[in-house]
Amino acid sequence: MVRAVIIDLDDTLYDERTYVLSGFRAVARDIARRFPHVAEGALMTGMVAELERHGRGAVFDRALEGAGVTPDAALIAELVAVYRDHRPEIALWPGVADALAEVARNHRTAIVTDGLAQMQRRKVEALGVARGVDEVLYCWEHEAPKPDPACYLEAARRLGVRPEDTVVVGDRPDHDMAAARAAGCRSIRVLTGRFADAGEDAYPADAIAPDFRAVPAILRGEKFGAEA
Ligand SMILES: [Mg+2]
Repeated sequence: MVRAVIIDLDDTLYDERTYVLSGFRAVARDIARRFPHVAEGALMTGMVAELERHGRGAVFDRALEGAGVTPDAALIAELVAVYRDHRPEIALWPGVADALAEVARNHRTAIVTDGLAQMQRRKVEALGVARGVDEVLYCWEHEAPKPDPACYLEAARRLGVRPEDTVVVGDRPDHDMAAARAAGCRSIRVLTGRFADAGEDAYPADAIAPDFRAVPAILRGEKFGAEA
């Protein structure tokens, strides 16, 4: 019987790329304020292009160089701080709020999210998901980044359930499914976000959902024992 559901945040409940773009907009605004000759729109275009070509590594350096400003470590550190502390303009994927409410009606629930807690907290605030679940845990505050299972075990403890009565829902096999297995939980993988096409390799999920909206029906199904 499934008594509790532990739910990932990034790319499971909303599109993490929208967070990245929201952060870029905050940084572009900040750069344009510091250097009035620099156009915010051009900065944003340049950052998105750099992201697509080379990933996140040197996006702010390239943006400054593109605007004719020599990047230095102190300025980059300030821009990183702006990014991490900005209030994100992000939203749950359509239908996710209803699906989350349905899961929470029938189970104890926790959101367990990886990444810098300061950033993850801002996301949780912006999405308004904390009030719909019993617990929110930030793995990095527990010094247990996924696939370390410690944060799932702590979530199960707080929810008053055994790991074997708990299902983890997440998008990333080598983090969410791997930690679920190590904790003794079952798992449902959602095929959304950056890792939708990732192979399962060593960490097959117990069930696959095209997206989070399909999760309540899977939890009601035979595989996880009907409960509602
Ligand atoms: Mg995720």
